[in-house]
Amino acid sequence: MPNGFIGEFELIRRIQQRASSHPAVMLGIGDDCALLRPPSENVPIVVTTDMLLDGRHFLLAEHGAEAVGYKCLAVNLSDIAAMAARPVAAFVSVALPRHQAASIADGLMNGMTPLANRFGVALAGGDTNAWDGPLVVCVTVTGEAVPPGPILRSGAKTGDAVLVTGPLGGSLLGRHLHPEPRIDEALALLDRVFVHALIDLSDGLVSDLGHILEQSGNLGAILNADAIPIHPDAQMLADRSGRSPLDHALCDGEDFELCVVLAPEAAEDLLASPPSGVRLHRVGTIESEPGMRIRRLDSLIEPIQLKGFDHLASDQ
Ligand code: ADP
Ligand code: MG
Repeated sequence: MPNGFIGEFELIRRIQQRASSHPAVMLGIGDDCALLRPPSENVPIVVTTDMLLDGRHFLLAEHGAEAVGYKCLAVNLSDIAAMAARPVAAFVSVALPRHQAASIADGLMNGMTPLANRFGVALAGGDTNAWDGPLVVCVTVTGEAVPPGPILRSGAKTGDAVLVTGPLGGSLLGRHLHPEPRIDEALALLDRVFVHALIDLSDGLVSDLGHILEQSGNLGAILNADAIPIHPDAQMLADRSGRSPLDHALCDGEDFELCVVLAPEAAEDLLASPPSGVRLHRVGTIESEPGMRIRRLDSLIEPIQLKGFDHLASDQ
């Protein structure tokens, strides 16, 4: 890397000493490239990356480097879960504020290492820079698909059930800092039933289910207002925001629960006896008519106009 700050190599050495390992990582931190053992033939390698910016996705001064480290790895693991894959290796690139580079790097590692260990992910490489700007962390995670996965966004069919793995909304009150990657849940579902489409809820149910509908051939969906699991945080946030708790549950980002689309019989089977440790709520049904609708508590059906979180929208 160019523009090294004093102690860059010492810092990398410290990171290397704490790095977790994985049997598929033949060579991790220390050389020009990492070496990953290819999975067996016909099993795709899955790769995801997410960049998080101080002031945008986290507030370093308020949240602290440890929470930031946790979140940066967890959101990537959530994407791996959204393909129903198993994570293998993480690559962490950082632009560290120069004046506190070492302590921030340590804090990031304190947040990432236990999570990496819990999910058996190796820290296999990255890049370290220091500058006079704010903290930027870019994490890339590779993984292995688990047959019959990977599960894409594009497999939803008319009549399918739409499920979510937990209560939604109000993550802004703090939950957004410690999302729980639903990897074990995704694999448990894959083990039991044929999942048609899967996505993790990073931008809100309306927005993310919208991606499934669009990519599955411009389908539609109807959601049942009385079936949306509303997190207590959505209730609390509604007291301040003037919006309804349901609105928060439908539109807030960073829940990082999974949205699961599958045949209605398979959904009934799962709901009757969920895999151990997996929470499931059926929130709606896929329809052939494009667009998203909600069946209100008074049974009236109306189109959903609400938008989830859009990073490029000028008003957010
Ligand atoms: P190069 O100059 O060849 O790109 P670097 O000095 O950037 O090499 O990195 C040396 C080794 O340390 C590489 O294996 C790289 O993947 C690893 N590395 C650098 N920064 C980090 C980091 N923040 N986290 C994990 N590994 C890192
Ligand atoms: Mg480099």
